[in-house]
Amino acid sequence: MRAALSEAAASIAALMQSADEEAAGILEFQIAMLDDESLVEPALAAIAAGASAADAWSDAMATEIEGYEAAEDGYFRARSSDLRDIAARVLRALSGIAEKAPPHGAIIQGKDLTPTQFLAMDWTRGGGIVLKEGSPASHVAMLARSRGVPMLVGVGSLEAANDDLVLLDAEHGHVVARPDTEAHRAFLSASATHRDRLQHAQLRVRERAVTVDGVTIEVLVNIAEPADVRTIDIAHCDGVGLMRTEFLFGHGLPDEATQYSAYRTVLEWAGDKPVTIRTVDAGGDKPVPGYTVEETNPFLGLRGIRLSLSRPDVFRVQARALLRAAVHGNLKVMFPMVSLARELVEATHLFEAEAAALAAAGIPHRMPPLGIMVEVPAVAISPEGLASAAFFSIGSNDLTQYVMAAGRDNTAVAALNDVRNPAVIALIGHVARFGAAHAIPVSLCGDAGGDPTAIPALLSAGIRALSVTPAQLPLAKATIAASRAQDTPDGAA
Ligand code: PEP
Ligand code: MG
Repeated sequence: MRAALSEAAASIAALMQSADEEAAGILEFQIAMLDDESLVEPALAAIAAGASAADAWSDAMATEIEGYEAAEDGYFRARSSDLRDIAARVLRALSGIAEKAPPHGAIIQGKDLTPTQFLAMDWTRGGGIVLKEGSPASHVAMLARSRGVPMLVGVGSLEAANDDLVLLDAEHGHVVARPDTEAHRAFLSASATHRDRLQHAQLRVRERAVTVDGVTIEVLVNIAEPADVRTIDIAHCDGVGLMRTEFLFGHGLPDEATQYSAYRTVLEWAGDKPVTIRTVDAGGDKPVPGYTVEETNPFLGLRGIRLSLSRPDVFRVQARALLRAAVHGNLKVMFPMVSLARELVEATHLFEAEAAALAAAGIPHRMPPLGIMVEVPAVAISPEGLASAAFFSIGSNDLTQYVMAAGRDNTAVAALNDVRNPAVIALIGHVARFGAAHAIPVSLCGDAGGDPTAIPALLSAGIRALSVTPAQLPLAKATIAASRAQDTPDGAA
């Protein structure tokens, strides 16, 4: 058992050699779990009582995985795939069975896929993922999204065996096994059209996004960590519309120097283009051990700016790092989950106090424009109280889940979680009009901004700046170029 655990840890460590920062974080998390004696203890006890190592390990892990799957917290449910990954890896080490890589272009199907299984595959030559369960908020979904790998979750059962022909259309959410000739021909033609569209979009990705009726739309990128910028050409976008800072909090609370260096990297890369960095949005589906609190309903709890204001010791460190980094580029700072004007006022005071302290100490710094995420329905319905914000950025992921009362991490209600619902579009339109009337710049940085099926409705609602994941840039720009800014698509009025 012990030897298998070490072998499993060593094989994960080997994978880390070629992993980027995001992937390395996930792998590190798995190694930490393998090091956790409390995870291994029940299996060792069963072995001591006479069970075989493989049975002891399988039983112990099944119980552990069940616990994670039953967790109320979406974060822990999503981590069950990490546990399944670890369980299978140790079992393989126990049985000495070598891993067999799937052929290029294979559609991987299963109950769930683990991050290390994902990372062990070469996705540059095609292929996709179809999961019976899974969650759009899981680690593997984040990895697939950022690498543009087609993936469907919550598919239920798919009757397919190895070597069956499987057609996966992640664009429209369809998967079919052993298609008849007609379905196959239709798929090939649809996929050729998609490929052409992508190639064509790629050719024009450097161009500004202008609608058919001549309205220029700003297209910015969302980034999750500084390493992301290595794969993005700044000439392809109008800046960074959202830099999430939660990655910094993955391994405890980051110090000022670590944060300053991460922010500075992105600001210097962007040159004079704007970079909107969001203060930490911990809580909800993004718990941070030692910082977030235990809650029965974390999505409606102490998250985002609420948590930052309740922990000024932590918030001040981030404010100082941002104020210092601001001298290296065109920084804007944004507060997540703002519900009340008071929160913006308090956060602004904290930034002003830290700026004054830096000035007194002779440390170079600059006060950036301070804006807010509009993702709480109260603010979208009544933005008047927050008109002193330097800008609004609509967080359509959270705004949609709160308006529709449908958890963003729950596949069972995924159909309800639709930004194109007239109620959500009406609110987005309201915010866009309010911004235009009061000279407050409004952008949208939720996932809907990069979704070609949602873009026309967002433009019609009056959105003129979108921030999208890097993999979505070409198609988002092409969709804009083929849309009218003044159109009113069906159902979006
Ligand atoms: C959003 O809610 O739309 C958003 C961009 O923030 P996050 O997905 O990080 O909650
Ligand atoms: Mg959000």
